[in-house]
Amino acid sequence: MTVREHLTAAAAVLKEAGMDTCRLDAEVLLAHVLRVERQELLLRPHLELAEEAAERFRQAVARRCGHEPVAYIVGEKEFWSLSLLVNRHVLIPRPDTENLVEEALRFISSHGLPPFRILEIGTGSGAVSVALAAAREDIRVTATDISADALEVAMANAARCGVAGRIDFICCSLFDGLSGTFDMIVSNPPYITDDEFAELPEDVRGYEPAAALRGGPDGLGFHREIIAGAVGRLRPGGLLAMEMGAGQRPALEETLRAAAAYDRVQCRRDYAGMDRVILARRI
Ligand code: GLN
Repeated sequence: MTVREHLTAAAAVLKEAGMDTCRLDAEVLLAHVLRVERQELLLRPHLELAEEAAERFRQAVARRCGHEPVAYIVGEKEFWSLSLLVNRHVLIPRPDTENLVEEALRFISSHGLPPFRILEIGTGSGAVSVALAAAREDIRVTATDISADALEVAMANAARCGVAGRIDFICCSLFDGLSGTFDMIVSNPPYITDDEFAELPEDVRGYEPAAALRGGPDGLGFHREIIAGAVGRLRPGGLLAMEMGAGQRPALEETLRAAAAYDRVQCRRDYAGMDRVILARRI
């Protein structure tokens, strides 16, 4: 069978299994199996697949039919134009989180005196820290995660993107064992509420690490701890920037106000118009 025939057959199988993006998924999976760019497939639709490649493609499609995210099957995901490694120990980087990177870079451009020191709490795949370090050579990042398995992925991503020398990785919970002060603290903490978690699509709930998604009953358990802990780790005027879910803004604004250590609270919306990043400056 040719590339085109395999793609058509796989798309039908994926559609039958209830996938929305079946043609795209089939193309991404076949390109991965053949180790070519997706465009290459479209340029060579009549290429005959070797049996060994056809078998690996069938296995990849079968995994996707079980709702496994494409990123885990192919082992990588694009974020901030970087190709990052992912596996089931880390949340798959979302385009939403590029808003957090943009806000962080905006602050560095307008307030950065090198060496600019950034702390990322809960780095996961390392996406945010690696994107920041790749964008600016004059920053030093400390990136933490409670999961040693996640940090392994993050370190591999830092090496892959050539920024390992400027990121220190620490396995710890929140601020435990950290010392010194930072110009900026960034985090994309888990913020899915218990009710929302129950409703998440199988692709997310069944495969991505719950510890990277669940933020307790109202989703804000980690944000509250970060707001409290960042008080002692941010320099005066330093920025706290956190990703959040739609609808969580009022509660976060209230928590920041009650901490009595921040001002200039702002919110950044994502491309879908949802409140996505909360920003506050240490007084
Ligand atoms: N935005 C992610 C989702 O909806 C959640 C990310 C997070 O909890 N930090 O799946």
